[in-house]
Amino acid sequence: IRTTAEYQAIDAAHHWHPFTDTKDLNAKGARVIVKAEGVWLTDSEGARILDGMAGLWCVNVGYGREEIVEAVARQMRELPYYNTFFQCTHPAAAEFAEALCAQAPAHMNRVFFTNSGSEANDTVFRLARVYWDCMGKPSKKIFIARRNGYHGSTVAAASLGGMAPMHAQSGLPIEGVRHIGQPYWFGEGRDSGMTPEEFGLARARELEAMIDELGADNVCAFVAEPIQGAGGVVIPPDSYWPEIQRICRERDILLVADEVICGFGRTGAWWGSETFGIEPDLMPIAKGMTSGYQPMGGVLISDRVAGPVIDKAGEFFHGFTYSGHPAAAAAGLANLRIMQEERLVERAARIAAPRLAQVWRALADHPLVGEARCRGLVGALELVRSKPDMARFPEHVGAGALCRDLSVRNGLVMRAVGDTMIIAPPLVISEDEIDELGARARRTLDDLAERLER
Ligand code: PLP
Repeated sequence: IRTTAEYQAIDAAHHWHPFTDTKDLNAKGARVIVKAEGVWLTDSEGARILDGMAGLWCVNVGYGREEIVEAVARQMRELPYYNTFFQCTHPAAAEFAEALCAQAPAHMNRVFFTNSGSEANDTVFRLARVYWDCMGKPSKKIFIARRNGYHGSTVAAASLGGMAPMHAQSGLPIEGVRHIGQPYWFGEGRDSGMTPEEFGLARARELEAMIDELGADNVCAFVAEPIQGAGGVVIPPDSYWPEIQRICRERDILLVADEVICGFGRTGAWWGSETFGIEPDLMPIAKGMTSGYQPMGGVLISDRVAGPVIDKAGEFFHGFTYSGHPAAAAAGLANLRIMQEERLVERAARIAAPRLAQVWRALADHPLVGEARCRGLVGALELVRSKPDMARFPEHVGAGALCRDLSVRNGLVMRAVGDTMIIAPPLVISEDEIDELGARARRTLDDLAERLER
């Protein structure tokens, strides 16, 4: 075991981190997390930090679940690896597929396994086009997604995403992807003169306008997260999703709900689609699928899409060496059983979500908070410079990043997206821990106010 400084030094020398400014990181030194239990992380200095982000929105069942550890160890001893290509399967992949589809919406009865949410979205990109080929409509190739959406870092997923800095760095999006606006009421709607519901409808109808401009015969699918996560926990007005569903049905466009964050209970139901009452044709999943205990993703596939592709194309020329990896499938199955047996989604909806709503929304009275919103177990705080006119901080102030750093010092992980602070704690968080989360968030806002006044 090395010291914190030693870990930071070897890390700074050799480890290139995802989505991290390396110069800034090396100047500060990485935070070294050494263990975790329940909702609590422990760093290399022994500090206990409440993980308000469930890792990266994924550790839904909490840390330290021996049942998952045991299931993975058992599987590794029995069959550590085998593939699922070329007419092979193994019990772990078959049983996890069965269990997942039993929990999925009734019209989804197949899963294609990947290793991540990014690969799941790249799989959607290829599969949706194959579907339209099989339907005799090969011209339907264009994807419509949303500005500020996030669907992953591989080429098609990053193209579907609407993150301007990602696009700027590598000449994305690739051909055949277009973007419309997001239903972001606080950031883009509240000065529009519309009510939230009118704004939700207006943003949904951007889809209709774009399909009509491109010609429905050229449009393959609309791809979006039920609640936009990495874009800042954009919770759509209730009018938004039913209108999107109507437009997709009327124009004969596939609807893809990226459930990588929203799936597995995050929104207070098993699926974000269920929360918003929609019936997607394809659902990319990952994260809560294994609660992060093993890397895994997948695409849940509706009968509508699976039928013609299996009948007409036969083979889908696509797959990953580790599709349905035994250890990941074993982790996923154990994770799903925990969620079902402990009724974690129902518990989150009945107990944790109302408590979080109470604690979190109370932060709206803080002078630096313009809006405090949440749904299920995901929430956001919009930081503002002055309450009465809701003006945002100038970008150079970096209020969000400062708030994030102060928060960790107060023993709470919150994530910053610009000046929007985000939480998505494990579903197992207790009511006392939710109160603690609220208290630490408030202390952090007070510290931030004091720092900004200096
Ligand atoms: N889709 C959504 C909605 C996500 O939030 C993410 C990751 O945060 C992804 C896809 C990509 O998943 P992964 O990081 O597992 O590739």
